[in-house]
Amino acid sequence: MSVSANKVVHPQTNSVLAGLEPAVFFGFFEELSAIPRGSYNEKQVSDHIANFARARGLEVYQDEIWNLLIKKAGTPGYENAPTLILHGHTDIVCESDEGVEHDFENEGIKLRLDGDFIHGTGTTLGADNTVGVAFAMSLLASDDIPHPPLEVVLTVQEEVGKGGAQHFDGTKLTGKRLLDMNWHDPKSLFAGCAGDISAHFRIPLQWSERPNGQEAARLRVSGLSSGHSEFDIHLERANAIVLLGRLLRLAIKEGDISIAKLEGGVNRYVIPGEAEALISFDRSVSGALRSKIEAEAAAIAAEYSTSDPNLKITFEEDPGLFFSVFSEKVATGAVNAMCLLPNGVQSRSLIVDNLVESSNTVALISNDQERIEITSTIPSAVSSRRYNIVDRIRQLSEVIGLGASVETFADCPEWPYNPQSRMLAAGRAAYEREFGEQPHVEVSHSSLELGLFRKKVPDIDMLSIGPEAFDVHTTRERLNHTTVEATWRLLKALLSELRT
Ligand SMILES: [Zn+2]
Repeated sequence: MSVSANKVVHPQTNSVLAGLEPAVFFGFFEELSAIPRGSYNEKQVSDHIANFARARGLEVYQDEIWNLLIKKAGTPGYENAPTLILHGHTDIVCESDEGVEHDFENEGIKLRLDGDFIHGTGTTLGADNTVGVAFAMSLLASDDIPHPPLEVVLTVQEEVGKGGAQHFDGTKLTGKRLLDMNWHDPKSLFAGCAGDISAHFRIPLQWSERPNGQEAARLRVSGLSSGHSEFDIHLERANAIVLLGRLLRLAIKEGDISIAKLEGGVNRYVIPGEAEALISFDRSVSGALRSKIEAEAAAIAAEYSTSDPNLKITFEEDPGLFFSVFSEKVATGAVNAMCLLPNGVQSRSLIVDNLVESSNTVALISNDQERIEITSTIPSAVSSRRYNIVDRIRQLSEVIGLGASVETFADCPEWPYNPQSRMLAAGRAAYEREFGEQPHVEVSHSSLELGLFRKKVPDIDMLSIGPEAFDVHTTRERLNHTTVEATWRLLKALLSELRT
């Protein structure tokens, strides 16, 4: 059975999106939104789409973690055109506002329409990437849109380290061109991204007995602007772990302090906005130590007055009882690592204006009884630069000694910007044909799933498009439904360009 993409194909009771155009897209968007589909919970949505495709006589491959590959032949005149891979991901980020009880395991998203925007109700919307899946289903359901042979790949676990794309069997693909539909700006084409890798820097802990009669304090850096470690790195914001390291070095030099605990950061993709240390020191140095830290804090506040106007450094006495502290050598080694690990922008692109090419964010610090662990995330558009930064981190562990070691994980390749790309040329031509002007071309310092497809399909040529969405991954996530029509037109025009 096939249906026309120009008709309302999913009349729904209690539909929130009825009446929005293109109706076929919003029908699928609403249908998908009703299915719970957080990361690792994609079986139901995967089965739903597989059944939808089988009902249309399409070839479906579903792997054991519920990634999908659906094949559809080219339309008349496009039978022998180069195959196009269409890509989106089925999982969504599940966040809810404080006080909102939402059972993401079993409940779909309650859509809410407010002017030009579709929102969730106290939750993420999941437009990232329901949009891509709904466009793919709209094309699979169509019989009047010219397109080349399609291989629709819908991955799972994108939001939790790109697990679906890592797992997906690339040998099932014959296409060498890929169109992704997880971009958030209808006025631009997305044409390249960085890869990234993360690294744990570990120092085994040796403990000493805390000297009797010492005073203690919690030294705390907070109120920083924080932000995403890849999208916001060019803003030169302060890093709470690095600043804490700077203050601790001063405290060791001036006050001979010991350290009992280190803690900071949220996750490996967030510039840490808070970090703190529990410290112990002799009563006799207390006053001098406090005034040295206050003077340094004032200098730091002035340095970061533009990027981090709410930065706060506090020295709270009486943080509670403790009896052991890090050995002197380990404390010095840890503070050296906090200060000397590469951090922030490392290089900028000379091809794309205002693009950071390589960076590092010292994102997390913690300790347990056994060790101190500092986690960095290193995005770069150039693999060799990414691995060179990792090697410098390793070199630092060798210089520090004390059994320090580095373990890397989550290595994801880049998708390098190629001004000669056929997909980019077709995207530009389609955009100009539809809208009478040139699109912007965007390249990002963030690492996307698409990098992994380069590893699976060498020489793959990729492009990404999408309607306007804001604040994805947060409960403020919203989709501007008035921009979907333009993206749908661009998508159809682009498909018709890809006859050769
Ligand atoms: Zn996302």
